[in-house]
Amino acid sequence: MAKHSMVLPQGSAIGNESIGQRLIKRRRLVSGVGLYLNSKSKFSFPIKDLRGKTCFPEGLRGLNNLGSTCFMNSVLQALLHAPPFRDYFLSGGHSLEDCKRRTMNRLCLICDINAVFSAMYSGDRNPYSPAQFLYSWWQHSANLASYEQQDAHEFFISMLNTIHEKEGITRNGSKGNGGDCQCIAHRVFYGLLRSDVTCMACGFISTTYDPFLDISLNLDINNSLREKGKKVTKSNEDDSMSTLLGCLDLFTRPEKLGSDQKLYCQKCQERQNSLKQMSITKLPPVLTLHVKRFEHSFVKKLSRKIDRYLQFPFSLDMTPYLSSSILRARYGNRIFNFGGNESDAFSKFEIFAVVTHSGTLESGHYVSFVRLRKQWYRCDDAWITEVDEATVRASQCYMIFYAQKTLFNNASEDLSHLPNSPGREVFIPIAGCC
Ligand SMILES: [Zn+2]
Ligand SMILES: [Zn+2]
Ligand SMILES: [Zn+2]
Repeated sequence: MAKHSMVLPQGSAIGNESIGQRLIKRRRLVSGVGLYLNSKSKFSFPIKDLRGKTCFPEGLRGLNNLGSTCFMNSVLQALLHAPPFRDYFLSGGHSLEDCKRRTMNRLCLICDINAVFSAMYSGDRNPYSPAQFLYSWWQHSANLASYEQQDAHEFFISMLNTIHEKEGITRNGSKGNGGDCQCIAHRVFYGLLRSDVTCMACGFISTTYDPFLDISLNLDINNSLREKGKKVTKSNEDDSMSTLLGCLDLFTRPEKLGSDQKLYCQKCQERQNSLKQMSITKLPPVLTLHVKRFEHSFVKKLSRKIDRYLQFPFSLDMTPYLSSSILRARYGNRIFNFGGNESDAFSKFEIFAVVTHSGTLESGHYVSFVRLRKQWYRCDDAWITEVDEATVRASQCYMIFYAQKTLFNNASEDLSHLPNSPGREVFIPIAGCC
């Protein structure tokens, strides 16, 4: 079982994912005009409004599809409402006037992200075309850029890595590599995974730490709960149900490595059978969970998408997956100093966005749901519609975005306390806005 973690900094965005996994991600078709006509699911939601209502909360605006760009639009909508990320841009965190790259007439992806924020929070409700941003991202991500099908998760990681490459710096001025990096990507999304490998011959434990920007989870297919007597809104073919908590249990469960994966033990000084267990030492302010729905078998030479329904909670307590909890369970209640942020304030999360993928490996469409002031909205490229919780729960989640509860609660309050960014467009008041 491959557990995904991200090692930074690096030009390549995809950590320990195999080439096969990357290839099949590429093959996923995102929306085109034809899909709108063919997709039944497109019209299965109660559409109250085809564009943005003037009474929708600030920052809610459609994004035009620029040719198979729903992978990008869906992620941008989530990032536009990620509390600390949003606050950074809306409060002039990256100043257009002071940007060295811009004054030298060079492309700056971060200036272009800034421009997307300005436009989306300008008060204009007509769908926006993030063409300059897309062009800029293409220039920075030559290995990913093309009109071919793209993957929303790859785009997300590539965008954060690009921000880090351009802005990564520590407090003492050196180039940051994660934990101490002050770039907005790391300040918001950086977390730390702990991996304990126990030698099954002598019991020696070797511990390593890996930074992450998101956590990729396998679906808990073999461990899902049987639903008894309870109707699932959208169930998979064998009537069992996967849950996000089940996936997190699977991720942090001790795993016996196969005899072909024997690891070198420092104490025995030879390769031994070992037991590996992951846990989380530091949680980021915004926790992004990526569900591995796309599989490739080199033996069978087959790629497939797992359409399985995954139940996810709106409030998420990550305490059971912290290194402190895992080690306490392993050793009993002896006192440990784990060095991570382990208090309740850091481990309670609220959901604020979900990126979903519907359709098949070859032909599919990304849509996101964002949660603003206790109301959910469906962002389907240019179309923004109000939806109920059941619609969100029934969706086929691909990426789930959680914010630390205190950040989420603060963000649900009025945005008027935020200072205007120097690069922000003039806010256009809308008469009669409810
Ligand atoms: Zn800039
Ligand atoms: Zn950084
Ligand atoms: Zn050993």
